[in-house]
Amino acid sequence: MLKIGESGWIEKEIPACGPLDAICKPLAVAICTSDIHTLWEGAIGERHNMILGHECCAEVTEVGSLVKDFKPGDRVLVPAITPDWNSLEAQSGYSMHSGGMLGGWKFSNFKDGVFSEYFHVNDADGNLAKLPSNINVVDACMLSDMVPTGFHGVELADVQFGDSVLVIGIGPVGLMSVAGAALRGASRIIAVGTRPKCVEAAKNYGASDFISYKNGTIEDQVLALTDGKGVDKVIVAGGGVETFDSAIKSLKPGGKIGNVNYLGSGDYVNIPRVEWGVGMGHKQINGGLMPGGRLRMEKLGALVSSGRLEVAPLSSHIFEGWDHLEEALFLMRDKPADLIKPVVKLAD
Ligand code: NAD
Ligand code: ZN
Repeated sequence: MLKIGESGWIEKEIPACGPLDAICKPLAVAICTSDIHTLWEGAIGERHNMILGHECCAEVTEVGSLVKDFKPGDRVLVPAITPDWNSLEAQSGYSMHSGGMLGGWKFSNFKDGVFSEYFHVNDADGNLAKLPSNINVVDACMLSDMVPTGFHGVELADVQFGDSVLVIGIGPVGLMSVAGAALRGASRIIAVGTRPKCVEAAKNYGASDFISYKNGTIEDQVLALTDGKGVDKVIVAGGGVETFDSAIKSLKPGGKIGNVNYLGSGDYVNIPRVEWGVGMGHKQINGGLMPGGRLRMEKLGALVSSGRLEVAPLSSHIFEGWDHLEEALFLMRDKPADLIKPVVKLAD
């Protein structure tokens, strides 16, 4: 990112490795919708000559003197969010906000990201995880952000056995929310989305009903499908600030909303007063940045390596070599109908 609206290649020094850090080189990288919000919408403000990217798997090339569990040559899963694990925020259970709100989101936000021959990882023992040998490098990229974020939506909505769940937006994050809700035992999953490729993937991940936000309001369609009762839980993984209006209106009293969507514009989120029970409807709204951390990455990696979760359907466009990175980035911006996720392979 040269500046808002302009991408290009730049030369930088290989980052220095502190005592707790690691330097890594990517084996494969994936483009995130957040890279598009950052670069073309200026959603986090201006950045000059910042390396984009926060989804990859990598090989460790150097570790600091105090790193205990990783060494050069290790192949690793790299989470998008890399907190400082000794911070007070991490001790309070919100590691993703270490050092301040969203402070665990360092790559392509406060520091250079992973679309680079070498990149820096803080707190290597806390943040990296070994890449299981039966997960290929393309699938491994889905563990940086898509799986942890989609699944966090499920956690934030607190999906329980038998719940009816509405998933708004079935891009790659929403697809992982569908998969996570199914793993958590949802009885019915209503997905909002129409692109045939995403609908097919959502069906395979466990969605039972589909509605289009282009065919009238989401809430009208959800209420029609549920005898006017609404759903137990809503996961928001797409749309804008207006989505909360639909989410609240689609939810039963006592229901919960889990938002993982990055609200790129607008000053306020609208909460409809009456459908929010005039302030007394027990309809909770939880919004969160994905948790990172080695333990979580190991657990999510185990879901993929055991075959319980299949992530291959997410990688719709696979390129080889850095020369194709810009093409992959532009593809994510332009979102052709058959795109779910572009990945660039750099090694096997
Ligand atoms: P995506 O753009 O591929 O998917 C969003 C989907 O929502 C699209 O298919 C789009 O057609 C659909 N959509 C748009 N408007 C809608 C509406 N009004 N109602 C319903 N659906 C609508 O994005 P993605 O890669 O799946 O990511 C989803 C969001 O999650 C993005 O905003 C991304 O930046 C964010 N994100 C958050 C985190 C986190 O930690 N919380 C991490 C990664 C990504
Ligand atoms: Zn992302």
